[in-house]
Amino acid sequence: MPSHNLAQIQIDDLDLLGYSIAGEETVIGIPQLDVCFDVGKAPDQLISIAHVLLTHGHMDHSAGFAYYLSQRIFSGMSPGTIVAPANLIGAMREILAAWGHLDGNKIPANLVGIRPGDEHQIKPNLFARAFPTKHTPGSVGYCVLEKRKKLKPEYVGLTGPQIVTLKEQGVEIDYPLEVPVVSYLGDTQYVDFCQLPYVATSKILIAECTFYEDEHATRAEAGRHMHINELANLLSCMQNEHVIITHTTQRTPMPEVRRVLEGALPPEIYAKTTILMDRKRRQRPPDR
Ligand SMILES: [Zn+2]
Ligand SMILES: [Zn+2]
Repeated sequence: MPSHNLAQIQIDDLDLLGYSIAGEETVIGIPQLDVCFDVGKAPDQLISIAHVLLTHGHMDHSAGFAYYLSQRIFSGMSPGTIVAPANLIGAMREILAAWGHLDGNKIPANLVGIRPGDEHQIKPNLFARAFPTKHTPGSVGYCVLEKRKKLKPEYVGLTGPQIVTLKEQGVEIDYPLEVPVVSYLGDTQYVDFCQLPYVATSKILIAECTFYEDEHATRAEAGRHMHINELANLLSCMQNEHVIITHTTQRTPMPEVRRVLEGALPPEIYAKTTILMDRKRRQRPPDR
């Protein structure tokens, strides 16, 4: 039996597998991209993913990082890579060293410190780019984007040999193209992410929304989380095809979260929005 009963959302050829309850645990893996956003308590089903993109050090997002690394080695896999805010790497190394003492075995790890604007290569054409969030010192979100080369319009229609000839002459026949696939905000208070075009145009946006009652607006600000009214404001300027809501709370029952979300968002935005932990609403056809 796997350790977690993960929520699953399929969007075209991508599976989002995750669990996200504020203060308890947040982790979302996308096996096809080989990335896991945050690591939660390291669900069994996500250990085979080779890259964890950690947004900040809060326990509900990071508790399982050492277990994740250890389980990969235990299962005969390569050492895991954890990309994390650069200011956390020292503490993470200390934790790994302490676990090494307790366990009696060194835990192989590839820890990569990242700052807003930095990129980390996942696959030959796939990169994770960090951007700043407002939650804890150094906290970041991540955009996973494909980098492709596209033939310039003036050369479309040329034959293979003609293209080879041009290349031999040193002609730049293509131009770089970035395709933002998925952006994950992690935990954050409201930031105008519309100013970051690669986040605003990602096919999929994974956004937190922790507070749903009007009187909780100040608590959202104090905890550096997003309130439903701020989420509605943010989504009004975003162009994502799919929006996934994470970091809901046990305090607000799911039917209430659904009702408030539907009331706060324009119908066309609500129609493309899915609450990760809303297992009922997700029974609908996957092509929405
Ligand atoms: Zn959290
Ligand atoms: Zn947090």
